[in-house]
Amino acid sequence: AKKQGGRRVAFFRQELGEQARHHLAIDRALRRALVGRQFLVHYQPKISLIDFSLEGFEALLRWERPDHGLVPPGEFIPVAEETGFIVPLGDWVLDEVCRQQREWIDRGLASVPVAVNISPRHLRQRSADDFLRILDRHGVPPELIELEITEGAVMQDLDHALQVLGDLKAMGVRVAVDDFGTGHSSLSYLKRLPVTTLKIDRSFVQGVPHTREDAGIVSTIIAMADMLGLAVVAEGVERPEQAAFLRHHNCTLVQGWLTGRPQPASAAMELLADRIRE
Ligand code: C2E
Ligand code: CA
Ligand code: CA
Ligand code: CA
Repeated sequence: AKKQGGRRVAFFRQELGEQARHHLAIDRALRRALVGRQFLVHYQPKISLIDFSLEGFEALLRWERPDHGLVPPGEFIPVAEETGFIVPLGDWVLDEVCRQQREWIDRGLASVPVAVNISPRHLRQRSADDFLRILDRHGVPPELIELEITEGAVMQDLDHALQVLGDLKAMGVRVAVDDFGTGHSSLSYLKRLPVTTLKIDRSFVQGVPHTREDAGIVSTIIAMADMLGLAVVAEGVERPEQAAFLRHHNCTLVQGWLTGRPQPASAAMELLADRIRE
């Protein structure tokens, strides 16, 4: 039995070694990709259910990897988070979104806020000034940028997060809690968090209107956001009956396949142009 256990440990070590090597290979490829301009940003519309107007976008990172096609973020963000590469990569995303916003402003397109996902490690290593410098570089008004952070990111270093998000919010940057309801937040700390928006996680939205627990959770989050004076966005809305439920419960902002997939900047610009023509 002892011998077998030893073999299992050896096997385990080898597995770990392989995983580490695999992560190292991805990390190297990611660093090359940043220099080689292989990253791009897609934009998913946030839509009002009242009049189907465009209210904002979420920026979603894509990796155009040679011989691999378009790699979704789920396959490389976790590795980048682990190796620390997420910090320069996250800076690049914010810079690219600000550059794009500047271009849209210069073309006279009515601008809506664009939300950028900020990973836990990125938030821990940056100050409010670091973020604001990137906005300044492009002359983008803070009101046109929103940061999406998870409950976990805030909990890792609460004092730092309160400071950074508080300073940013005071400057006019919007702050959203992403995947709300999936983390470990308590109501008392939600009260202290300098945020403007809650994003209801797709896992809850999926079950409405038929799963009783999900319907209860979603309607409770909406009521709570309202009570705290926060905006609320429902994520992952795919079906009309989900939208009907949300609207009935006074959640009028949605983001999902029903109202628009993530799309390249050129297509997003068309939506902005339509907004003016109407
Ligand atoms: P997230 O922040 O929760 O982003 C929403 C995800 O849901 C996106 O996946 C989006 O394409 C997908 N989605 C939107 N509507 C629907 C729908 O109706 N149905 C379904 N099934 N899915 C929908 P994506 O683009 O693959 O991104 C996955 C995750 O990767 C994001 O989850 C976010 O955590 C992370 N991510 C993406 N871009 C960035 C980035 O620039 N920085 C960081 N740190 N993380 C990012
Ligand atoms: Ca997000
Ligand atoms: Ca989310
Ligand atoms: Ca999510």
